[in-house]
Amino acid sequence: MNYTSTRDINISVKSSEAIAKGLSFEGGLFIPESIPKISLTNIKYMAEMSYRERAKEILGRFLTDFTDEELNKCINSAYTKEKFETDAIAPVYKMNANQYILELWHGPTCAFKDMALQILPHLMNVSVKKQGLERETVILVATSGDTGKAALEGFRDVEGTKIIVFYPEDGVSSIQRLQMCTQAGSNVFVGAVNGNFDDAQSGVKKIFTDKEYEKELEKKGKALSSANSINWGRLVPQIVYYFSAYCDMLKAEEIQPGEEINVCVPTGNFGNILAAYYAKCMGLPIKKLICASNKNNVLTDFINTGVYNRNRDFYLTSSPSMDILISSNLERLLYMISQDSAEVAEYMRKLTEDGKYEVSPKIKTTVSENFYGGYADEEKCSGAIKNSYEKYGYVIDTHTAVAVSVHDDYVKNTGDNTKTVIASTASPFKFNGDVLASLESKEGIQDLDEFRLLERLSEKYDLRIPKSLADLEEKEVRFEMVCDKNQMRAVISEFLMN
Ligand SMILES: *Cc1c(COP(=O)(O)O)cnc(C)c1O
Repeated sequence: MNYTSTRDINISVKSSEAIAKGLSFEGGLFIPESIPKISLTNIKYMAEMSYRERAKEILGRFLTDFTDEELNKCINSAYTKEKFETDAIAPVYKMNANQYILELWHGPTCAFKDMALQILPHLMNVSVKKQGLERETVILVATSGDTGKAALEGFRDVEGTKIIVFYPEDGVSSIQRLQMCTQAGSNVFVGAVNGNFDDAQSGVKKIFTDKEYEKELEKKGKALSSANSINWGRLVPQIVYYFSAYCDMLKAEEIQPGEEINVCVPTGNFGNILAAYYAKCMGLPIKKLICASNKNNVLTDFINTGVYNRNRDFYLTSSPSMDILISSNLERLLYMISQDSAEVAEYMRKLTEDGKYEVSPKIKTTVSENFYGGYADEEKCSGAIKNSYEKYGYVIDTHTAVAVSVHDDYVKNTGDNTKTVIASTASPFKFNGDVLASLESKEGIQDLDEFRLLERLSEKYDLRIPKSLADLEEKEVRFEMVCDKNQMRAVISEFLMN
């Protein structure tokens, strides 16, 4: 199977080239030319399989130029019990009669980014080799939190790669800072940049577009690459867990073979929910895809009106990984429905120039047939955390709470009681302050530092602190460098010399 670009139908490349390159040269995103189908018989077989075997079934249908051996190696390196603290990798927890929580946060950094970033480095390594490139891949990331740490954990000690992460000196939580500054691995570097996230981000962007620097690195056999969610190698592993959740529900006889479920996803960049849409197009019995946003509800409006408009206020919320106004992966959905790269290129031009676009009636209709859009403000999010615990004894994080709240509204508004898989994207320990403030009160916890918050959540709610967070207080700090934005290139060069 080959891959084309959302902005140029004439492009056709193998999956290894799509993954090695990341982005098509004219700015479009790589996308499979056709969608492989999986029959109900196949799904029933998969119900008897382990997560790793299920992953092979799905990935094998998309990465057709990978050998069995290559795929097995990637999958077996990524999805281990050691890294995910459970052999189920992504277990499903039945919270009540129609809400099933898909726990995507058992990986090393306690957020769902691990599901893709644990395997992406291996897929990239194989892809680069298959392309006959001798290069060393240097991953460069600017992070406001979750992605940086997940990328560090994924790429550390993976041969043929180095990873450099910059985070804003003012703009990450103390847990997040510690998680990064204590990072293990022989091929990693972490630096703080004076300023906020925009400073770190614009510094990294400048380096990515510096042609002269690119040539300089090329001479040394190195190429910069990004680990962000537009790479197909990050999206395709996310399709697996929707199949896996359905298979688990079949196996537990919670559903009958072929029975339709709904899926509800707390959404930011539209990657996670797009993976669910792929699963649906492949044949997984999904009725509605419920897209849950926080107060930054640009996607809710898009689904309801067909107009995407980023010209609006930006809010900082307690679900920071969803504080996004441009959802990059939406471009792939527009292409999947329109099948017209010129039309998509025009929408993207309008988005850059005017900050908004309106889609065709065809896209609008297909979107509203498949998706439901809703959002939860801070009060509703907090209420969902409290309610889930008080009614069902289950503690959820702030991102998952947005999804639970939107799903509750969906059921109220539509009367649709279909069993629903709710994607749970972070462990409550990762956002312990906001979770405890919702369960108890802000005043009650204001004197507790991050580690006392972990203990409080664990002791009072009978939850086990994830190992990676529990160990943090004792870990040695390896990276303490702080630099200015304009020193970033020099810092990178120095690290790469060693
Ligand atoms: C990244 C992230 C999201 C948003 O996922 P998208 O694929 O960008 O829509 C939601 N929750 C958490 C905890 C995340 O880290």
